[in-house]
Amino acid sequence: MADPVLTFTERGIYCPAGDFFIDPWRPVDKALITHGHADHARWGHKSYLATETAAPVMRYRLGDIALDTIRFGEVRQIGGASVSFHPAGHIPGSAQIRIEVGGEVWVVSGDYKTEPDKLSEPFEPIRCHAFISECTFGLPVFKWRPEAEVAAEINAWWASNAAEGITSVLGSYSLGKAQRVLSLVDPEIGPILTHGAVEATNAILREQGLPLPATTQVSADANPKNMTGPLVIAPPSALGTPWMRRFGPSSQAFASGWMALRGVRRRRAMDRGFVVSDHADWDGLLAAIKETGAEKLFVTHGYTDIFARWLKSEGYDAHVLKTEFGSEDADEVTEEEPA
Ligand SMILES: [Zn+2]
Ligand SMILES: [Zn+2]
Repeated sequence: MADPVLTFTERGIYCPAGDFFIDPWRPVDKALITHGHADHARWGHKSYLATETAAPVMRYRLGDIALDTIRFGEVRQIGGASVSFHPAGHIPGSAQIRIEVGGEVWVVSGDYKTEPDKLSEPFEPIRCHAFISECTFGLPVFKWRPEAEVAAEINAWWASNAAEGITSVLGSYSLGKAQRVLSLVDPEIGPILTHGAVEATNAILREQGLPLPATTQVSADANPKNMTGPLVIAPPSALGTPWMRRFGPSSQAFASGWMALRGVRRRRAMDRGFVVSDHADWDGLLAAIKETGAEKLFVTHGYTDIFARWLKSEGYDAHVLKTEFGSEDADEVTEEEPA
């Protein structure tokens, strides 16, 4: 019997026909990377292949790497495999990777979000025989409201803080979430300031032509305390640190899919939590899976056991795939920010 299109090794997801790995977590010779988040794009591979839009951020985060780029939809022959990258709608440049060997098609989703936003290339469903899907938010309790409603909530919180003369500090992961939040806020309310890690990523994405409102990095000269009603976008790791003491009185909020869970909201001791996620919610996951037409499913990230069990009850050939990808915790809460 021929090798399966992909096999699962201790280094990561491997394609025997093309002799490459996808988002491997140990050093390999050839790594195809879905997107620049730290649990997917790791340091130490001999060569990398990623989309043109994902590349600048990867270079910034990983330094001098041997990185080749590919356009969305472009088909490349790697050994005995035909490979193409397709939008995953997770963050700008994020891709699903389609691999075809001898007429059999497998797709690795990476992280994905089915609801379109103003910055990421919209998610594109790909027909396949086997689909390797993340399921970070694979429980029915996760159901995102329309983006415009969450935007209105964030803007109302900011405007009321501004009216009280206090600074609004919104914790958002520096790659993806911070820019998404920037695409939602109304710059008419007041000045927008950023933490250095966020500003560095903003600069890279602006250079690529993404429409972001004007932002200023917090500094001695740009102190929120001396401004009227500022909003500060900072990575979660900076919240509650001495860096924030210079701001004077502030209201702290956090933007994450996890804010849908009351317990998480309480534990993080935030004044407010906004449910903004870069991942598919329950309905999004099910719709995406259905649209692939895949019979064989492998699930990664998050509620894998429960999600796989549910898929089996629906008649799918579903398996849990043990990976070293982070949960959204790695993406958004605990990851070390670049200096
Ligand atoms: Zn991610
Ligand atoms: Zn991930």
